[in-house]
Amino acid sequence: MSRIWLVTGAGSGFGREITRAAVAVGDTVVATARRTPALDDLVSAHPGQVDAVRLDVTDMEGIQATVSDVIARHGRIDVLVNNAGRAHVGAIEETTDAELRAMFDVHLFGPAALIRAVLPDMRARRSGAIVQLSSMGGQMSYPGFGAYSATKFALEGMSEALAEEISPFGIKVLVVEPGTFRTGLFGARSASEETGPYAETVGPTRRMIESNVTTAPGDPAKAAAAIVTALDAERTPLRL
Ligand code: NDP
Repeated sequence: MSRIWLVTGAGSGFGREITRAAVAVGDTVVATARRTPALDDLVSAHPGQVDAVRLDVTDMEGIQATVSDVIARHGRIDVLVNNAGRAHVGAIEETTDAELRAMFDVHLFGPAALIRAVLPDMRARRSGAIVQLSSMGGQMSYPGFGAYSATKFALEGMSEALAEEISPFGIKVLVVEPGTFRTGLFGARSASEETGPYAETVGPTRRMIESNVTTAPGDPAKAAAAIVTALDAERTPLRL
């Protein structure tokens, strides 16, 4: 039977490719994004299979309303993909409290709220899957990546407990740990030389990220296909 997916941050990068990969195996995707025009081409390329919905994962009320609406219109959510993400490169001393909280809002509090919203229905049906886009940075960290990694470590910890809590209800958790992939995550930065106290430690990380924007070895389309396959194979964590 074809599945109903809900993907966050589906307007670009992994979210867009996961949407395409799910559609390619005959499933239907509720593709969510903060800016729905970014989903227009997906909707027109796959009429009836991609439903574009506006969702900011930091909007807690919006999350519950969206999940209720999707279940009402599509009958259920079989696969939740917590994909939306934001980038930050900077020394801990140079990372503001506001930026750190913003990272946790998108990478931890949003996913947690979505999980709480989808689980009652999944538990009642004793079926479902939750895909957590973590990172290689969810297993290790290095200079300039402390804030980003802190959020992904937190997501991994939550996912490990969650997997054991919900497996008795027939619901699986797939944690995905990509390395470096060609997406818009780190945007286009100026290749200016780092100055200041962290030039020698964070500077190389910044330069590596800058070059990765266009030259990262990872193809997000291949990663997305691997995620769809891994869901069936129950292989977790998925290191890409
Ligand atoms: P992209 O920047 O291409 O995609 C991230 C998406 O998240 C964007 O579409 C963005 O939308 C969306 N987003 C950001 N904030 C919010 C929000 N508050 N609510 C809803 N959507 C939001 O990068 P990736 O595809 O690479 O990132 C996807 C996931 O993969 C992230 O969780 C990231 O941490 C993870 N990852 C990526 C790696 C890589 O090398 N690319 C490596 C390891 C992990 P908008 O355009 O509106 O900002």
